[in-house]
Amino acid sequence: MPFDLSSALAAREAAGLKRQRICLDSGQGRQIRVADRSYLNFSGNDYLGAAGRPELVQAWQAGLALWGAGSGASPLVTGYSLPHARLEAQLCDWLGVEAALLFSTGFAANQAVIKALLGKDHLQWQDRLNHASLQEAGAASPARMKRFAHNDMTQLRQLLEPKRGLIISEGVFSMDGDQAPLAELVALSQASGNWLMIDDAHGLGVLGAAGRGSLAQQGVAAGQVQILMGTFGKALGCAGAFVAGSRDLVDYLANFAREYVYSTHLPPAQAEAISAAIAWVQQADGAREQLQAHIALFRQGAARLGLTLGDSQTAIQPLLVGESEQALALAQRLRQRGLWVTAIRPPTVPAGQARLRLTLTAAHRREDIVHLLAALEEGWHGR
Ligand SMILES: *Cc1c(COP(=O)(O)O)cnc(C)c1O
Repeated sequence: MPFDLSSALAAREAAGLKRQRICLDSGQGRQIRVADRSYLNFSGNDYLGAAGRPELVQAWQAGLALWGAGSGASPLVTGYSLPHARLEAQLCDWLGVEAALLFSTGFAANQAVIKALLGKDHLQWQDRLNHASLQEAGAASPARMKRFAHNDMTQLRQLLEPKRGLIISEGVFSMDGDQAPLAELVALSQASGNWLMIDDAHGLGVLGAAGRGSLAQQGVAAGQVQILMGTFGKALGCAGAFVAGSRDLVDYLANFAREYVYSTHLPPAQAEAISAAIAWVQQADGAREQLQAHIALFRQGAARLGLTLGDSQTAIQPLLVGESEQALALAQRLRQRGLWVTAIRPPTVPAGQARLRLTLTAAHRREDIVHLLAALEEGWHGR
């Protein structure tokens, strides 16, 4: 046999790292149902509670009636239609970018950018905690990857070489919830003559005026970042992604990015739903305020309990536990109390840094946060 799958799986199992998919029998929301039991959901990325909103569902339904189920082809063939063009224009207006290009997933968008742009004579500088999709793409590209310690601008400055390539960071880090120092990244990219790419999967919709994301929140103009990537599967409650930047960047990717050229375009009805999601998110200040209030309440409560949280002011609140088994056991105890939380283990995070990745959303109620804190207090001391 050329592939020994069972021993790879057995080794993972023995290390306490085997993954199991959980099948929900409900949609996304404040509560989810699993195996006939209801849980308060502290695991999803639907930070504003957008996924279940009637505006989005109705826009998707109306889009289906008008445009059919699928896009029928890749975007350079006949898969690009008015809903896609309108969504791209809407992204430009919302984010103040010159042009935008749609992808079916954020994973594909990151692969597309990094693999289409970087050649063997380029360099790339990536934050060590960058998402797997960025690091995978970087490893697959012929350009040498220089990884800098998380948010360590001093080390990045030392590693930079003038005019050699691309600095890549997230706006909000997906497992830690902390934020990149964007103004410093911009300054380093300008001083060194390198481009800057920001993946704002977890900032878009949640942070900044009108939910414009991490750049707006940190006072960085969109034009100072050559490549902005965002996803529609998190705060926007749908699925899909975009890459935004100059008109040349978008034209280049539409010509050279294989993930774009050789893949069926996302359904036009989905583009209609995403457009409705953006329209809703732009004016969802109430939801953003609600979320911030939950974050503040949770962090104050956790500090009182002496729990070790990461340094995060965002919806992603990591509770650092240490070993995988302990994180799993704590998640299990919370489940028994009706709370759904996810233990994040290596290789997703470094060894010894297993954690509960708790996510708060605007759909939660104040009493849910109080309930979470009480359950954590009990669960933690039962360790
Ligand atoms: C989720 C995520 C992606 C991938 O986006 P999908 O649309 O889920 O494929 C990329 N980057 C970051 C930082 C993410 O959190």
